[in-house]
Amino acid sequence: MPISSINPATQEVLETFEALTEKQLDEKLQRAAEMFQQHRRTTFSERAGMMQRAAEILESEKKNLARIMTLEMGKPINSAVQEVEKCAWVCRYYAENAEQHLADEIVETNATKSFVRYQPLGVVLAVMPWNFPLWQVFRFAAPALMAGNAGLLKHASNVPQCALAIEDIIHRAGCPEGVFQTLLSGSEAVQSMLEDPRVAAVTLTGSEPAGRSVASIAGKQIKKTVLELGGSDPFIVMPSANFEDAVTTAVKARTINNGQSCIAAKRFIVHEQIYQEFETRFVAAMKNLQIGDPSNEQVDIGPLATEQILTDVEEQVSVSVAAGAKILTGGQRANLEGDLARGNFYEPTVLADIPKDSPAFHDEIFGPVASLFRVANIDEAIQLANATTFGLGAAAWTNEITERDRFIEEIEAGSVFINGMVASDPRLPFGGVKNSGYGRELSYFGIREFTNIKTVWIKAD
Ligand code: NAP
Repeated sequence: MPISSINPATQEVLETFEALTEKQLDEKLQRAAEMFQQHRRTTFSERAGMMQRAAEILESEKKNLARIMTLEMGKPINSAVQEVEKCAWVCRYYAENAEQHLADEIVETNATKSFVRYQPLGVVLAVMPWNFPLWQVFRFAAPALMAGNAGLLKHASNVPQCALAIEDIIHRAGCPEGVFQTLLSGSEAVQSMLEDPRVAAVTLTGSEPAGRSVASIAGKQIKKTVLELGGSDPFIVMPSANFEDAVTTAVKARTINNGQSCIAAKRFIVHEQIYQEFETRFVAAMKNLQIGDPSNEQVDIGPLATEQILTDVEEQVSVSVAAGAKILTGGQRANLEGDLARGNFYEPTVLADIPKDSPAFHDEIFGPVASLFRVANIDEAIQLANATTFGLGAAAWTNEITERDRFIEEIEAGSVFINGMVASDPRLPFGGVKNSGYGRELSYFGIREFTNIKTVWIKAD
C-alpha cells in the first residue's frame, strides 16, 4: 500500500511514497543490527555531540519543520514551531544528562564490590503517532540513542514527510545511517518486525487497540515494551482555585493540537458552587476560538488530522447526545469556505448532562470536545476523576492544602498537576497507569527503560 501525505485542511494529496518491500525491510533490520554493535561502543561525549548538533539543526530549521507538520496533520503553526523547539530541548537534555543517568551505581553488599550498570538493549522499534509527529519521536530517539541503542521508526502512515525529515536531521547531526532509520511501512509490517530476533524491544505511542496488539505480539516474543496510550484526563476545579486562570487554562488544555492530545483535559469536573459561572465562561471562550487554516498564525483550531478522526468524533458526539447529553456549543462539522470546505474541521464543542453509558463519559474523544460535570464535594470529584479505564494525567485546581494532598494521593493517573495544565517536560517522567499504558518516557526513568540493568558482583581475594 502506498503511503500518502494529505493536507487535512484541504484534502490535497501532497506526496505519495511507496511502502518498503519485505526485502528492503530486511536490509534495514540487518543494517540496524550491525550498526548497533558499532554504536554501543561510542562514548557518551560522541553521542552527546550528535544530539547537540541535532538540536542546532532543529532550531535553525524550525520554520520549515513546523510547516511540514502543519501541512501533513493540521497543527496550528505557532504550536508546531513550539514543538520543534521542544524537540531541541529534549536532545540537549539527554546530551547533558545521559551519562549521569546511566552511571554505575555502587550498592553496598557482602561482595568486595557490587554495582548496577546500565547497558543498551539493542535495536528498539518505535511505533509512533501523528499528533505530535516530531516530539513523540525525539522523546524516544534522544534517550534511546544516547543509551547506545539503535532506533527504527515506524511512524504513523499519515505523516511520512515528518518521518523522513526526522531521519534526515538525525543523520545530518552525525548519526551513522543504520543507527537510526525511518521505515515507511503500514501497521501490518509491525508483527513481523517484532517477531524478528534482530529487534530487541518496542515502544508504542498510540491508541489502546494498537497497544494491545503490539504488547501481545511482543509478549509472545518476551520483548520489552513501553506503551503510551490514550487518556481521558480530568480537569477538576474547586471553589478556592484562581477562577480566571482555571477557565483560560481549561480552554487551552482541551483544544491544544485541535483537541488531539493524549494529555488534553477531556472531562471538566467542577464544584457546584462555581459550576454555573465556569460553564458560562468556558462555553463563551470555546465559542470565541477561531477555526481555519492552521498555517495562519491567528487561527486557534485547525482541521482534525484525518477524515476517519472527524467521523469518529462526530459519531461519539451524536451517540452521546442521543443518550441524553446536552450540547452547549458546537456539536457539528465546521463549514468553511473555498479550499477549506473540504477540510476535516469540527467546531469546538461543550457537552453537559452526560449520561454514564455514553462515549462522552467513558471514551477518549480525540477532537475539541469537552465534557462538563458538576460535583457537590471533593469525594465526588475524585470518584468521577477515577471513573475511567484510563490513567494518564490529571489537573486539579485548588488552593486548599488538604484538597491538594487528597488529589495527589487519590487520583489514579501517571501525573497530577495542581493549578496547571498537564504537560510533558524532559526532566519529569511521563506515562500512565491502567489502560493508558505502562513504562515511562523522559527523565532518568525514560532513558533506563531500554537498558539492561545489569547487576555486577565481585569478590576479590
Ligand atoms: P494509532 O492508530 O494507534 O496509531 C499509532 C501508531 O500505531 C501508528 O504508527 C500506527 O500505524 C500504528 N498502529 C496502529 N494499529 C496498529 C497495530 N494493530 N499494530 C501495530 N501498529 C499499529 O493511534 P493514532 O490515532 O495515530 O494516535 C492517537 C492515539 O494515540 C490516541 O489514543 C492518543 O491518546 C494516543 N497518544 C498517546 C500518547 C501518550 O504519550 N500516552 C501520545 C500521543 C498520542 P499506521 O498509522 O500505519 O496505522
